[in-house]
Amino acid sequence: MLPEYGRPVQELLAELTELKAGDLPVRGGKVTAYVYDTGRPEIHDAAHRAYAEMLEVNMLDPTAFPSMVALEKQVVRAVADLLGGDAATPGIFTGGGTESIMLAVKAARDHWRATTAAKSMAAGSTVADSTVADSTAAGSGAPGDAGEGAGRAPQLVLPVTAHPAFHKAAHYLGVEVVPVPVDPVTFRVSVPAVEAAIGDRTILVVVSAPSYPQGVIDPVEEIAALAASRGVPCHVDACVGGWLLPWLREAGAEIPPFDLRVPGVTSISCDLHKFGYAPKGASVLLFADAALRRRAYFASAAWPGYTVINATVQSSRSAGPLGGAWATLQSLGRDGYLELGRTTLEATRRLIEGVSAIPGLRVLGRPESSLVAIAADPDAPGGAIDVFVLADEARRHGWFLQPQLSYAGIPANLHVTVTGVTLHGVEAMLEVIARSAEAARLAGPAAVPDGLPELIASVDLEALDDATFSELAASVGIGLDGGGPQEMAVVNAVLDALPAEIREAVLVRFLSAIYS
Ligand SMILES: *Cc1c(COP(=O)(O)O)cnc(C)c1O
Repeated sequence: MLPEYGRPVQELLAELTELKAGDLPVRGGKVTAYVYDTGRPEIHDAAHRAYAEMLEVNMLDPTAFPSMVALEKQVVRAVADLLGGDAATPGIFTGGGTESIMLAVKAARDHWRATTAAKSMAAGSTVADSTVADSTAAGSGAPGDAGEGAGRAPQLVLPVTAHPAFHKAAHYLGVEVVPVPVDPVTFRVSVPAVEAAIGDRTILVVVSAPSYPQGVIDPVEEIAALAASRGVPCHVDACVGGWLLPWLREAGAEIPPFDLRVPGVTSISCDLHKFGYAPKGASVLLFADAALRRRAYFASAAWPGYTVINATVQSSRSAGPLGGAWATLQSLGRDGYLELGRTTLEATRRLIEGVSAIPGLRVLGRPESSLVAIAADPDAPGGAIDVFVLADEARRHGWFLQPQLSYAGIPANLHVTVTGVTLHGVEAMLEVIARSAEAARLAGPAAVPDGLPELIASVDLEALDDATFSELAASVGIGLDGGGPQEMAVVNAVLDALPAEIREAVLVRFLSAIYS
């Protein structure tokens, strides 16, 4: 509630410190997802100060605040230089990977609409092809109208390992996802399956460099060439890898070509708030040509107020994240990133080697970056280790390993994002993983209440009231009244037993309950 009288700043900051006491630590390397620590406090301090300096600048209007145009051009240029572009490469600074992806999909969709409409004009209105004729209406600027109804929606060809941000973009933009399987051993998308999935409604083909779940790089060269031969744009999702892979390569890792140098790649996303080590709210989307970038833009003069020209989804937004990202790049420099790349590579190699030596555990695929998925060996003597129980054990020792549910034939596993700060603690991490694995083996799998997944799958979640949902949650040990749940193994096991659509419905209920 709003206090009657204003409170002093010391008191406010003390309250924030108190609130944050229950959070995972953002520094130190014991949290192996969400946060990216350089291990160099002076770098983060530079970012904080530049962030604060730019905090009140509004990116809504580039003519009012030219400082942010200058900063954005510098940041986009730095990313373009690293990813095979040059001074002329068009880009957009966005608020994160999801926003970069949203804009890449929007640009591709609008390009498809315009070119399909143009083709239909050229063919004349008497053409008997209903797809072309109907798309004319869509191309004329009425999104999601009858022209793109059922069976005619534009399509996104997407590996099953691609980030959910693409599903979100498709959902928001009226695009249909055509999922493509990955190889069960390498976890890279299947080229023939992509070829079979491309049709005349395909607006964009996506590859990841690397994909988040197993840290492997899709066959970018082959897929981009294939897409180009079919006249379809190709987006490389290098959100996590764009500012990592080049440094790993320079440090000696084998990294196949994945960026704008690859013929057929039309856009690429690169998050600076991941391996750029910038504060959150920083990503860059690059395009192979300026016409495609214009398709990502939005302008409106359809009201009696100020004219709106937006490069991003948000309109009014702070230039703080831009200032923070710029300062991080400038204060680390080439040398700083290369050094972080070296320690990241060394720590990743050590982690993979160490995990492979722990009885009952294995690494999925052959990670080509620094993202490592740790799964149970299904044939281990005495039965497979429950990785969710392992994660809870590790959490008790102060380490957070990120659970990943089974999906599309890929087993449940734990995700570790190795960063520059991991190396100094990698032996300690391996010790904790080994000890937790042994404890999980002794404890056995999480006890899922009999029939609970079936019950959840059969109830109409929409019809439950919050009290009933809370009871259901309590039955698996989750109190929804504040304080993060510590014992997640049962929850993860229940979710893991459910099909994806039901998992999604449960998660929405869960989120709504935490915020009630
Ligand atoms: C993190 C990530 C994203 C989405 O990024 P946000 O910044 O969380 O919106 C997209 N793709 C990949 C591969 C990622 O790792």
